[in-house]
Amino acid sequence: MSDFDPDRYGFSTRAVRAGQTRTPEQENSEPLFLSSSFVFTSAAQAAARFAGDEPGNIYSRFTNPTVHAFEARLASLEGGERCIGTSSGMSAILTSCMGLLRAGDHLVASQNIFGTTVNLFNNVMARFGVEISFVPLADYDAWAKAIRPNTRLLFLETPSNPLTEIADIARLAELAHRRNCLLIVDNCFCTPALQRPLELGADIVIHSATKYLDGQGRCIGGAIVGGEKLLGGDMFAFLRNAGPSMSPFNAWVFLKGLETLALRMRAHCENAAQLAEWLARQPGVQKVNYPGLPDHPQHELAKRQQSGFGGMVSFVVEGGRAAAWKLIDATHIYSITANLGDTKSTVTHPATTTHHRLSDEQRARAGIADGLVRISVGHEDIRDLTADLGQALAAMRS
Ligand SMILES: *Cc1c(COP(=O)(O)O)cnc(C)c1O
Repeated sequence: MSDFDPDRYGFSTRAVRAGQTRTPEQENSEPLFLSSSFVFTSAAQAAARFAGDEPGNIYSRFTNPTVHAFEARLASLEGGERCIGTSSGMSAILTSCMGLLRAGDHLVASQNIFGTTVNLFNNVMARFGVEISFVPLADYDAWAKAIRPNTRLLFLETPSNPLTEIADIARLAELAHRRNCLLIVDNCFCTPALQRPLELGADIVIHSATKYLDGQGRCIGGAIVGGEKLLGGDMFAFLRNAGPSMSPFNAWVFLKGLETLALRMRAHCENAAQLAEWLARQPGVQKVNYPGLPDHPQHELAKRQQSGFGGMVSFVVEGGRAAAWKLIDATHIYSITANLGDTKSTVTHPATTTHHRLSDEQRARAGIADGLVRISVGHEDIRDLTADLGQALAAMRS
């Protein structure tokens, strides 16, 4: 296994095998190293490890073999030289910012990014002298106009949550590089099974491993993937010195999650496509957002940029918030939770949960209607998912 050369193999083979180093026990499945520290054969070896003269484990805040196996596997799947595992998706974003930004720098982000990311930028990074501008995700000219001489980063999520808008990664990467900026893509919704931003020119990929990489709603974790030069310096030093580190147990869960990622994403896409098409025909449903529908504004771009349309569907019901709540409460098999990327389908009302901190005006600008409902489509039988939503829609209209 140690001479496994990932470049020779396809995505699914790497998902199952990359990053594994067998111990002398000859285990088939990857071992879980629950050890906070590692011992040295001598004082001289300890000194060499601390000085960085000899590679190897020291302490699990920044070197753990199970975390490393996860990092190596995800780096291989995203096509990056290096990966840093973190304690959460948010700490992956924080670690990237701490590694790449300093006071006086400016960052441009798309408007509809994860709400907590907006708070991290506005309420934390801003206190340390970082300036932030927000632009509409799919408006290329707005990105170009927002870049200033001190702009260092462009940050986006595509598809966006919950409206599934799509940005042209290759075009924005070209813009970023022409203007001496770096492009960071939060690839949480697609995962490398459906979209590989680094191949399209992005510099860094962010993950909330909590979502599809785990895939069964168990652990919190995150990851940063990119080039050795960007990740190996200040960014890795921040992880080592500040400690937003991934737990080895969680790394092991994510590592095993990656083995079935391509299969799971295909199943999410199939169920989501069928649910979206079905929803579009239902009375009481005004609008369905899903990149796989031909009337999605960036359907052609999604077809080019992604190898599947993803598992997230949102739709607007007639009757605003009261109707949306009635619908949600009438479902039987959907979990009412804001989490996503689970085998279990989940349903949420963005205006009063994930986007509740926005003012009415901000929400209107972001397109988060009161009647908007978001579904993360899981792996239940599609017949059951449509039947349950059908009876809930009937209850809503009654
Ligand atoms: C959940 C999420 C995050 C944050 O990840 P945590 O693991 O919850 O910290 C960041 N970006 C997106 C798109 C997410 O969905």
